[in-house]
Amino acid sequence: MRKKIVAGNWKMNLDYQDGVSLFSEVVNMAKDEIVGDQQVVVCSPFIHLHSIAQLAKTASHVAVGAQNIHQAESGAYTGEISASQVKSVGADYVILGHSERRAYFGETNALLSEKVDAALKHGLLPIFCIGETKEERESGKFFDIIKTQLTEGVFHLSKEEFAKVVLAYEPVWAIGTGLTASPEQAQEVHAFIRATVAAHYDQSVADETSILYGGSCNPKNAGELFAQADIDGGLIGGASLKSRDFLDIVKVFN
Ligand code: 13P
Repeated sequence: MRKKIVAGNWKMNLDYQDGVSLFSEVVNMAKDEIVGDQQVVVCSPFIHLHSIAQLAKTASHVAVGAQNIHQAESGAYTGEISASQVKSVGADYVILGHSERRAYFGETNALLSEKVDAALKHGLLPIFCIGETKEERESGKFFDIIKTQLTEGVFHLSKEEFAKVVLAYEPVWAIGTGLTASPEQAQEVHAFIRATVAAHYDQSVADETSILYGGSCNPKNAGELFAQADIDGGLIGGASLKSRDFLDIVKVFN
């Protein structure tokens, strides 16, 4: 059975102390309130990672991740952070290919395939984001776009490597807009993603791949979204900044 995962993406929010406080609340609530076997992941800015990874050790359901890494091992890349550095502070996951990285930092599928390799080499599990813009949806080409993102970003991996990847479908038009994909729209794309994985690898690999939905997910709409056959959890932006809202989304899987 594939893992159910609810991952928070704090983006560039929360100063150090505020982030540690929020994470402490999440850990305490998770200990009291989670009764299922869902995995909770909090992807914080780099500055919080070491402290919150220590706190995460006290809660079996909770892990932490980064939001980006550099693809190189080490060296003269001022301001960048490597996969091994992220792993060394206790993180287990890293978000790669978020649409904000693609749009504002020029990250291409080719670059992302190198970042995926760096993550896996150092034992970080990639949460690999794919999804179409509003124009791409309206032009009807979104299935092609998503297939290309998968093909160029992660399909160079062996079956064993790909088994470590979590996919996240984030329609760009739904991110931070309050415009959620309907459960039917999301399920249609998730089923397509799973079929594309099955066609490239095989059905058993596809059946084991966790595919998260992201884009204006909140405690009100998470139940219906996560009830879809091919939606295995969520990647949560805004609602992950409030411990009560985030835990309510996590508890959909109780
Ligand atoms: P929102 O939940 O704020 O729409 O953000 C989604 C997202 O980008 C998560 O990575």
